[in-house]
Amino acid sequence: MKPPPFVYHRPASVVAALATLAEAGEDGKVLAGGQSLVPLLNMRLTQPGHLVDINRIRELSYVDAGSDAVRVGALTRHAELARHPGVPALLREATGCVAHPAIRNRGTTVGSIVHADPAAELPAVLALLRGSVTLASAAARPGRARPDQEIVRRSVAAADFFLGPLTSAVRPDELAVEAVFPRPAPRSGTAWLELSRRKGDFALCGTGVLVTLDEDRRVTGATGAYTGVGPVPVLVELTEAVAGRPVDAVDWDRAGTLAAGAVAPEDDIHATAAYRRQLVRVLSARAGAAAARMAVADG
Ligand SMILES: Cc1cc2nc3c(=O)[nH]c(=O)nc-3n(C[C@H](O)[C@H](O)[C@H](O)COP(=O)(O)OP(=O)(O)OC[C@H]3O[C@@H](n4cnc5c(N)ncnc54)[C@H](O)[C@@H]3O)c2cc1C
Repeated sequence: MKPPPFVYHRPASVVAALATLAEAGEDGKVLAGGQSLVPLLNMRLTQPGHLVDINRIRELSYVDAGSDAVRVGALTRHAELARHPGVPALLREATGCVAHPAIRNRGTTVGSIVHADPAAELPAVLALLRGSVTLASAAARPGRARPDQEIVRRSVAAADFFLGPLTSAVRPDELAVEAVFPRPAPRSGTAWLELSRRKGDFALCGTGVLVTLDEDRRVTGATGAYTGVGPVPVLVELTEAVAGRPVDAVDWDRAGTLAAGAVAPEDDIHATAAYRRQLVRVLSARAGAAAARMAVADG
């Protein structure tokens, strides 16, 4: 099928994009890499009257790898993020698991986060690192028929951003301009592992683990983030299974068991709930051990 008719807008600046989004209201949609939106349009699962293509807004294409956080602009492609030298291992590993090279060359990291597919890697990474998304909209001024072109920005924490399958906190008049991934604390390690039926498919379950040690190499914290086992990225606090032990003496299977008991996956056409729970168990144990090794190297 072909998409339904729409008015195509190609603004060259954030201000112009926001003005168009404000005018279009509920009838407008942002087009970034198009890797999720175009199939939805072609299947007529979404029928916006106005498409706002942001691909000409070069100011949105950047990776700012600061000492506290990595800031990713809305036009940065998955592939650009994955090959950036200043990006931490977790982001690189997880981004490398997104789909195939052709899709990573076009799809954007911020688009993936806004799209909020519960099977997608980047939303879970953002949740694990307690990141946030910066949203921009045109400021409306009292007494004006059209929204003014000043920009209003708000930052939404990952914990509040993902509302349900394919539903995020972005309002129709807003553009997500940046995703912020905080860097883990010193003496931390991370790992991303996942299993999919064919390489490049969405994973049946993806697992990221963040482990933090103290100066004596005892585990002080461990958290798991999971895709494919809930309507949004699922975070599980693993600390009670592993805290206080010297890192070499930790039984990561205990963390896996804790995680498997905490998630509530459902049966679907791809896998049973029991199978996904087993994946959570095994991947948590393996990712926890790998993250601990990285934390030791970091300390
Ligand atoms: C065959 C195939 C396999 C895939 N496999 C995976 C996978 O394994 N893992 C994975 O994570 N993803 C996968 N994807 C999805 C891919 O990662 C997409 O790139 C991503 O989901 C959306 O990014 P995009 O830039 O293409 O967004 P688009 O398709 O352009 O937009 C997606 C949605 O987000 C909105 N949007 C996008 N950017 C913004 C913005 N800046 N502000 C406000 N709204 C915005 C759009 O309006 C739309 O609703 C796959 C896609 C395909 C086609």
